[in-house]
Amino acid sequence: MPSSATRVIQENLADVQCQVADACGRSGRDTAEVRLVAVTKYAEWEWIEALSKLHSDFGENRPQQLAERHQLLPEIHWHLIGQLQRNKVRLALEHASLIHSVDSLRLLNRIAAVAEEMQSRPEVLLQVNISGESSKSGFSATQLLNDWQSVITCSGAVQIKGLMTMAPDSEDPEDARPVFAGLRVLRDELAERSDSVSAGLQIPELSMGMSSDFVTAVEEGATLIRLGSRLFSGLS
Ligand SMILES: *Cc1c(COP(=O)(O)O)cnc(C)c1O
Repeated sequence: MPSSATRVIQENLADVQCQVADACGRSGRDTAEVRLVAVTKYAEWEWIEALSKLHSDFGENRPQQLAERHQLLPEIHWHLIGQLQRNKVRLALEHASLIHSVDSLRLLNRIAAVAEEMQSRPEVLLQVNISGESSKSGFSATQLLNDWQSVITCSGAVQIKGLMTMAPDSEDPEDARPVFAGLRVLRDELAERSDSVSAGLQIPELSMGMSSDFVTAVEEGATLIRLGSRLFSGLS
């Protein structure tokens, strides 16, 4: 007999999957291209355990909390989606299966150095500040285009899988559309450059869309959506 938390989470998950499928249908995409990262930063442990029986990709903002939860649920793929300080890089590499939030060349170089020491080749995304808000971290699109050669240089030590962005806070998901479309266009432009400079650097992933705007993000090409409050609504 599933607990009531499990039932609520199951329904929320099914609703989200339906909305993703509809958005894929509208935009001619395959639902298999879209992965859901369940963001657990505000979730109670009981809900996380319930969700872990239904889903295997979870996201956390803080490396410390991610590490603790990874030790409790080691079979889950834990995604780091929040800002990473240089002194937490080792912890993050030990516990995260994908780091979404590499927001500077300096951090990328640090990750590459620590990864070489650890003899691992971690998967990362580069965070881009498409909206240009000063409150948001990340490369600017221009910076990333300029730095692309240096990024490619790191790709021996680090697997760069794609880009991540955050849309401005807004009631209206349509406000996020140009930001999401901008990330896709940038990804395609960088992919084209990579072909000519270093054959083989694939950057398929677009991590974009949260509870309020994931439908728009899927329509614009998201391959990873990061949802917290939507999955746990109706619980308290
Ligand atoms: C908290 C968070 C999310 C999830 O936000 P919800 O609105 O609860 O879906 C997604 N991405 C990042 C980077 C976050 O910090």
